[in-house]
Amino acid sequence: MKIGFIGLGNMGGPMAANLVAAGHSVTGFDLAAPMPEGVVRAASAAEAAREAEVVITMLPNGQILRAVAAEIIPAMSAGAVLCDCSTADVENTRAVAAEAEAAGLMALDAPVSGGTGGASAGTLTFMVGGAEAAYSKVLPLFDIMGRKAVHCGDSGAGQAAKTCNNMILGATMIVTCEAFALAERLGLAADKLYDVASTSSGNSWTMSAYTPVPGVGAQSPADNDYTPGFAAELMLKDLRLALEAARSTDTDTAMGTLAATLYARFVEEEDGRGRDFSAMLPRLRAKGRD
Ligand code: NAD
Repeated sequence: MKIGFIGLGNMGGPMAANLVAAGHSVTGFDLAAPMPEGVVRAASAAEAAREAEVVITMLPNGQILRAVAAEIIPAMSAGAVLCDCSTADVENTRAVAAEAEAAGLMALDAPVSGGTGGASAGTLTFMVGGAEAAYSKVLPLFDIMGRKAVHCGDSGAGQAAKTCNNMILGATMIVTCEAFALAERLGLAADKLYDVASTSSGNSWTMSAYTPVPGVGAQSPADNDYTPGFAAELMLKDLRLALEAARSTDTDTAMGTLAATLYARFVEEEDGRGRDFSAMLPRLRAKGRD
């Protein structure tokens, strides 16, 4: 398939490389990042999109997606699919899909989970919103770049799934770290709490697959001095998307809101920027109650 790929950073670069390795023809454009081997560099986003059957975008946020979409939609061939894999807000996502459809194109929102490791290994999970015909067309590409794709519903449903999932993740990570900090002050060894909670009702992905304690449980960024992994500022970005979605739908998300407040403090007022989101644990170990 002829693919245009825009945004070849930490995630997009390895995703595009996997498409090339599977035999697809990929033309890429990025303002700064180098092209992986085998990806043809275009001079502009519009040029990368021009003859593609599928254009994949993997950009920092919804505002940038909107600007790039305005440039590429007029250049794309009729019937082609604009497939955005960025984590973006539902509002910009739906606006881009409507603009694409008005121009005779198809559109998908297909944010991912699995991080840079999953992007390199081709084991991402795609959460997809948009029409069935577009989903079927892009599914073979999701199968190359990932291990699982879920068609969540109409346009915006993929971003909605990502937002809800990451709100669970952020709040769960904080409370898991709080439990380890509390255990330490109660004189309970971290490996004992892990032994109990990872096989009890306190278990979660943050407990058993991303254990925030060095040397305990799963191998995770905690074992690498909290080098990301999944950076605290990206967690904050996702929690703010959840907050915005809760506001626009008048949903009471007290825990998600508190998680956003705590990550904002960690990233913007303390030393959280550039650290993994599980570095909430050393933060809590070093402090007392507010
Ligand atoms: P990144 O900053 O490494 O990559 C984004 C790329 O977009 C950069 O190379 C940048 O130069 C490029 N870019 C920005 N504006 C552009 C423009 N106008 N035209 C062309 N290129 C442009 O970020 P990333 O880690 O690859 O994340 C990309 C998206 O994936 C984000 O939305 C992020 O939230 C999401 N995501 C990241 C992870 C992760 O672990 N890094 C996990 C899941 C989802």
